[in-house]
Amino acid sequence: MVEYIPTLNLTFIDITNRLEQMKLKQHTISVYNDGKELLQDCSIIMDSLKKHIEILENTMESCREFLSEIYDDLSKPLPPEDFVFNTAYGMLSYRGRDNIEKKQEEVVPDRVFIPEIKYNMKIPSVKRLSEIPSMFYYYKGDKKTLPGVYCNINNNCIKVPFPQVIDSVKDFNRVKSMRCKYKTRELCYSHTNRDCNYAHRGEQMIKIGYQSRCPSNPRFGNPETMAIDTKTTVSDDIDTVLMYGLNDIFSTAVWFDYYKITKKKLMYTDKA
Ligand SMILES: [Zn+2]
Repeated sequence: MVEYIPTLNLTFIDITNRLEQMKLKQHTISVYNDGKELLQDCSIIMDSLKKHIEILENTMESCREFLSEIYDDLSKPLPPEDFVFNTAYGMLSYRGRDNIEKKQEEVVPDRVFIPEIKYNMKIPSVKRLSEIPSMFYYYKGDKKTLPGVYCNINNNCIKVPFPQVIDSVKDFNRVKSMRCKYKTRELCYSHTNRDCNYAHRGEQMIKIGYQSRCPSNPRFGNPETMAIDTKTTVSDDIDTVLMYGLNDIFSTAVWFDYYKITKKKLMYTDKA
């Protein structure tokens, strides 16, 4: 463990120095051969590193599972009997064992039967409504991730999209409101031989704001007019918007749960 990182650092210093020195030399067969040798050395190191990363990932995953088993066992309330008992994972435990206090704020997801949809869903439960954390979070972004508002559904981080919302009463434009079945514009054109109004991969989608969703302001949610629309949309309509939106979001959460999509995937949803 202690030797691994310094050795790796020395190796990297060595290979970068070898390349820098080669670049300063005249173009000769000998330098060419040195270059080939360096490539081969790098490739050997890379193969080992890849294997090591795989082993590290597996070990960490396995260690996390192991820790959560210990945590589950040690955080269960003590049984009244003063003798050895079996834990959920088949280990023997006893009254005088170590005990981890389960943190109050920690919400552990468990399978819960949702009567309305007759579905057993892995979902966090709370004892009091005040324990429910906020639904949306602002993230300032990094090299890989766009800044914006995010939420977490089934451990998938999803950015809140702000597509253009068309007022379906005033505007009959439906361009790019649905994904094209041919996926890419190239494939679509080769099948249809004409310009297509559906959204193709990578193209920004638009949302149709129907009157049934928000009668006082069908375009409610449109980013450019949000400031005015917030003032002119009535509270009854907000209830209806929430009915549509929450039902949509929860249905996707059931879908994520059913297909066990939990890999903390980052999702952008505004492009086809
Ligand atoms: Zn198309």
